[in-house]
Amino acid sequence: MYINEKIRALGEEVEKEFSSYLSDIDEIARFNQEKVLDAFIKNRVGENCLYPSTGYGYGDVGRETLDSIYADIFGAEDALVRHNIVNGTHCLAISLFSVLRPGDTLLAATGKPYDTLEEVIGISGNSGGNLKDFGISYKQVDLIDGNVDFDGIKKALTPDVKAVILQRSKGYDWRDTLSCEKLGKAISFIKSIRSDVCCIVDNCYGEFAEKTEPTQHGADLIVGSLIKNTGGSLAQSGGYIAGKKKYVELAAYRQTAPGIGKECGATLGQNRYMYQGLFMAPHIVAQAIKSAIFCGGLMQKLGFEVNPLPTQKHYDIIQAIKFNDKEKLIKFIQGIQKASPVDSFALPMPWDMPGYQHQVIMAAGTFVSGASIELSADAPIKEPYVGFMQGGITYESARLAIMNAASEVI
Ligand SMILES: *Cc1c(COP(=O)(O)O)cnc(C)c1O
Repeated sequence: MYINEKIRALGEEVEKEFSSYLSDIDEIARFNQEKVLDAFIKNRVGENCLYPSTGYGYGDVGRETLDSIYADIFGAEDALVRHNIVNGTHCLAISLFSVLRPGDTLLAATGKPYDTLEEVIGISGNSGGNLKDFGISYKQVDLIDGNVDFDGIKKALTPDVKAVILQRSKGYDWRDTLSCEKLGKAISFIKSIRSDVCCIVDNCYGEFAEKTEPTQHGADLIVGSLIKNTGGSLAQSGGYIAGKKKYVELAAYRQTAPGIGKECGATLGQNRYMYQGLFMAPHIVAQAIKSAIFCGGLMQKLGFEVNPLPTQKHYDIIQAIKFNDKEKLIKFIQGIQKASPVDSFALPMPWDMPGYQHQVIMAAGTFVSGASIELSADAPIKEPYVGFMQGGITYESARLAIMNAASEVI
């Protein structure tokens, strides 16, 4: 690892200057840890919950209890937590296909959804079996200066709209992450016009960043990945869907088969990682957000525009840095990789990653392949060359990697 002396000194300055913001994050973690531990106790997690099942997986008490714990933590009626949901995109696709029927329309109320959903919806690409292929239409209302466009939503809520998707995190956009409060206001507005519409929140990267979750602000379904926040860096794969019972049931019918739903699905020994990861998640998410504050503070001192500012509230684990320069962006991403515990010797390069429209460069020197709750950084190769850094399972290691990356940049 190479950390320039000037950067090291600047890092210490950043920690002093933003110390109160760093400790605010611990306070949120303490609150969420109590919520998680209470749910474990209430649901009587026993050692038997950690044992593997095989075959059909009937009566897997660990699987059923974990669903119930997720529901409690999110203030939801029910949840579906499965290691064999392959990623966040899959999980979002399950929820969309479970709610929408031919002739229906999906409305995106917070602008264009995350890049990989373009092919799921049929905005781009021609993957057979996307929503468009099933006769499901799509429309979108963009954010205005990062705020929800209430008038636009009102106009767009025609009778054919059956589901609305809202995205909490900024994804690969230079915009503010929406707080649960803001999401809640948008959802109540939508419900005041059309109470029967299903409001789905893409909750990726947002879990445990705040004291509440979108389900506690009216969302009918929330969706996320277990190799992000809720897996606490220990879950090896998976996703969750939580919300209203009738919608979770539909999602389960889509994930397995109608009539089978949640009743089947061997857990193959994955339960222990999913339980322990969830138990760790409030703490791990706090480590990641502290790393984001440190990164934002340091890169800002080096003259780059950052989003969010270190002094702003962090509603997800993402830190965006605007480089305005392709080479600096690539150096930063490579610098993160070079100070990773796994594959430090690998040099990330931009490539045509499936599901994305631009070339993408990604650093993920992670124990779980590609897990972005572990320190990782990625960027689409397009102007103004914004890099997105997220994760960090220990603040101590992430700050080193961030200083290494900053040294590469300068
Ligand atoms: C990560 C992410 C997804 C899903 O991405 P996968 O790589 O498929 O897990 C969807 N939406 C947002 C906002 C995300 O951050």
